[in-house]
Amino acid sequence: MATIIDGVKLAAEVRERAAQAVKELQAEGVTPCLAVVLVGDDPASASYVRMKERDCAEVGIESRDHRLPAETTQKELDELIDALNSDEAIHGILVQMPLPAHLDAESVIARIAPAKDVDGFHPESLGRLVRGLDGFRACTPAGVMEMLRAYDIDPTGMNAVVIGRSTIVGKPMALLLLEANATVTVCHSRTRDLAAVCRGADLLVAAIGRPKMIDASYVKPGAVVIDVGINRTEEGMVGDVDFAAVEPIASAITPVPGGVGPMTRALLMVNTVAAARRATAG
Ligand code: NDP
Repeated sequence: MATIIDGVKLAAEVRERAAQAVKELQAEGVTPCLAVVLVGDDPASASYVRMKERDCAEVGIESRDHRLPAETTQKELDELIDALNSDEAIHGILVQMPLPAHLDAESVIARIAPAKDVDGFHPESLGRLVRGLDGFRACTPAGVMEMLRAYDIDPTGMNAVVIGRSTIVGKPMALLLLEANATVTVCHSRTRDLAAVCRGADLLVAAIGRPKMIDASYVKPGAVVIDVGINRTEEGMVGDVDFAAVEPIASAITPVPGGVGPMTRALLMVNTVAAARRATAG
């Protein structure tokens, strides 16, 4: 029987702490403000944006909504980013991904002022992570680290295996675990004998996007299993881990839903408050 890592409860605690920090900033005359940019009408993206705006309201962060039509040009989007960059009232900028295919997401991410990069996707933020410098960390891996801390799981000396090498999850996750003194292996679609590599893991992070792919044959008894996957299937939202099969042998596991997802959103609030604090500190 594994400990179920409760992302909903933890995220509420993280938001509560962020709300406290907002009060302190407000006492100094500053209200943290997040600009949220949504291009097009993808229903999943629209629902993510709604949830993020609801979190902002709960925490006391002002959110400014910029909804653009799907046919928005690169130039129009670039101009909006430039305007948000130079608006001193705005501390964080979030451009909801994915963007419509005709827009260049990489150049949009790179255009956001690094000081307002609350998603932690900007090359400067990633570079600072690689160099071990202070800076914005991508919300999903930062949320996972917060979960480990909250449950007293110290990665020091652990064999950590991260499945997935994306820029928003897998790579920063591996770097954060390395920073926390784990011995890290990063796996991907070309990894040979994935199950055998995973069975060597004391800490296994699945960020793949394949429903329930990770069954008990991938998991060492007693391992900590973090499921980042969000997959919409006919049976509803499921993770990359087959929870029913893995939970009996893991020592701790995150559920889907109710695991990493809520923490990702909570860390966006933390990053936005940090952006406001840094801007205020000058
Ligand atoms: P990407 O599609 O960008 O990356 C997926 C990674 O998984 C790639 O590195 C890919 O390898 C690897 N992969 C795919 N198939 C296999 C396989 N059969 N065996 C081994 N590795 C494989 O996805 P993201 O990183 O953006 O997201 C991963 C998952 O996490 C998704 O389900 C997404 O919805 C979810 N997610 C959840 C968040 C949350 O808040 N909980 C936030 C962000 C994402 P290769 O590089 O070789 O193609």
